[in-house]
Amino acid sequence: MSESTIKETTYKPTSPNSKLDFASLWEYAPAPESPAKLKIKNQYQLFIDGKFQKPSKGRYFKSVNPATEEEITEFAEATQKDVDKAVKAARQAFEGEWSSLSPKSRGKYIYRIARMLQERAREFAIAESMDGGKPIRESRDVDIPLVAAHFFYYAGWADKLDFAFPGKKPEPLGVCGQIIPWNFPLLMLAWKIAPALACGNTVVLKPAETTSLTAMMFAELVQDAGLPAGVVNIVTGAGQTGSEIVNHKDIDKIAFTGSTGVGKIIQKSLAGTDKKYTLELGGKGALILFEDAAIDQAVEGIINAIYFNQGHVCCAGSRLLVQENIADKVILKLKDRLETLIVGDPLDKNTDIGAINSKQQFETVNSYLELGVEEGADVYQSKCSIPDSGYFIRPTLFTNVSQSNRIVQEEIFGPALTVQTFRTADEAIEKANNTPFGLAGGVWTDKGSKIFRVGKGLRSGVIWANTYNKFDPTSPFGGYKESGVGREGGLHGLAAYVNLK
Ligand code: NAP
Ligand code: MG
Repeated sequence: MSESTIKETTYKPTSPNSKLDFASLWEYAPAPESPAKLKIKNQYQLFIDGKFQKPSKGRYFKSVNPATEEEITEFAEATQKDVDKAVKAARQAFEGEWSSLSPKSRGKYIYRIARMLQERAREFAIAESMDGGKPIRESRDVDIPLVAAHFFYYAGWADKLDFAFPGKKPEPLGVCGQIIPWNFPLLMLAWKIAPALACGNTVVLKPAETTSLTAMMFAELVQDAGLPAGVVNIVTGAGQTGSEIVNHKDIDKIAFTGSTGVGKIIQKSLAGTDKKYTLELGGKGALILFEDAAIDQAVEGIINAIYFNQGHVCCAGSRLLVQENIADKVILKLKDRLETLIVGDPLDKNTDIGAINSKQQFETVNSYLELGVEEGADVYQSKCSIPDSGYFIRPTLFTNVSQSNRIVQEEIFGPALTVQTFRTADEAIEKANNTPFGLAGGVWTDKGSKIFRVGKGLRSGVIWANTYNKFDPTSPFGGYKESGVGREGGLHGLAAYVNLK
């Protein structure tokens, strides 16, 4: 977004003595994580039937580090022939070795994967930050630990499925086609692969084009773990490769996480087939802040809700609804806090906001920032410095917006928060529900009764109270309305991978 399109900031420190001029008063010594130990290959092949195989047409695509715009490696482009090969391998493994294993042995393999992930956590964290742009603090402290936690959690269920579904006989579905996005690359892989394997299925997974590195490193780990060939197959490629998976006749279930637009295309393709499916799609989470809340804690929660992972979070709290009488105070505090956020090198442990994942997403977010100005919003951006190259966007706040604005209705998927006010709880609920999405929301109040009353009124799959973005493998996650169909995580996540007789 060009500087001229941003209104002159009206930022003033909350108190006259405030020292929040971070740009000139604070200095940080860089604390970069060293990528020296991470061995990135020049080229990655497809992982099919336990082996790394060249793509049938010999085509590859480049992967870029969004913080430097440098190419870091290239991945194979899987064609229909390659996807077919992967499905055949998965079918053979499903009908052979994997199904004949005892559930306990199956669980042991999944435990082994979880432990090996922990052993290699640092490499995975660095790779995730280099390929996708997220701050190392997040990949190191959130993404990779949660990945291991998912494998541990579902490993535990592998030999206890009869207890998960009392009175029923759970049977695996067969071959599962899984397609994931770029915002939490390895975590989305874990959400897909861990429950599928625990239930005795085999998988063909496609990572997102811009973030396939950790998926290929995971394929190496699977090989090292000695998992029977064909149980996990990973095929890289673009949307077309995803579509070959969706439309393959010998796949029993499609698990997709991504945009609502692509989710709708997939749902249409699956109509009339007997494939099961789960769709985890976009969101536009509302954060409802009441006057009786602990305001400073709420401000922290809001900062985390929207600026975590550059706002590339399906459940991001991207709309703040604040009770009218505290709005001015909250906006000032938010602006103060924005000034302290450090935007820059994802590998630096000081960094709060890393790089936007790709050039394409960088352009999308910038076009929304311009749209906000066109729609008449007041735009506030922190004054922090940002690197000269790479895809970086300062944390942004839109005030003076209305419910019908596109920046309030559509998923920006970047570091931009809109702020609206409300007077009564009913008004807050109505505004919160008034988008096509229904994935996540947050409520801040001192009153437990208000949390339940508002929570009940929100058409939203996940609701956090006095906190935000808390994840655990035991709790189900998923959306209402255009945010998707089905749940992942917890027992619900198991149910999505079994037939119950
Ligand atoms: P996307 O464009 O829909 O892509 C998701 C995946 O689908 C990618 O692997 C993509 O491949 C592939 N794909 C694209 N077109 C396809 C087609 N026609 N058929 C089959 N596969 C196709 O979404 P994204 O931009 O990567 O991810 C951001 C979106 O994901 C946001 O809307 C976000 O809210 C949502 N999300 C939802 C959840 C949730 O749990 N609800 C979690 C995380 C993210 P390419 O990479 O090659 O394009
Ligand atoms: Mg990349």
